[in-house]
Amino acid sequence: MKTLWSPWRYEYIASGGAPNSKLRGCVFCSIQADPARDEANFVLHRASASFVVLNIYPYISGHLLIVPNEHVADLDAATKETTDELMDLAKRSQTALRAVYQPEGFNLGMNLGKSAGAGIADHIHIHMLPRWAGDTNFMSTVGDTRVIPEDLATTYRKLKEKF
Ligand SMILES: [Zn+2]
Repeated sequence: MKTLWSPWRYEYIASGGAPNSKLRGCVFCSIQADPARDEANFVLHRASASFVVLNIYPYISGHLLIVPNEHVADLDAATKETTDELMDLAKRSQTALRAVYQPEGFNLGMNLGKSAGAGIADHIHIHMLPRWAGDTNFMSTVGDTRVIPEDLATTYRKLKEKF
């Protein structure tokens, strides 16, 4: 029997700014509303309806989240403009990740709803990760311990210039 590979369950993202904001309940909305803190929040790129941010607790270096500006809990509740742009940003993210890390493959996925493993269920987002053959070998699945070979600031600096 094969174990389902589910990096999405390791979902922790930037804590966000605007602690006194009415948006404080949603990390993605806080990040979206505070462009002055983009570097601190590891926002790589902003488009018109969505943005790309590093997952601050990555499953692997280069683990990105592609997030709509709209606070929606379901993919089919998002506007076409938004979902079109999410896919455009997924393409752009793939290009950037390929340029920096030369991965052998990618994972792209969404968790819709808590039961599906969403850490932040109220605001949809797409995960994108670079993958290599055998890359799980250096990550222990025991005790949720993972070895991430690169710090976030380094990942951010490398990827930012590719967007
Ligand atoms: Zn939100």
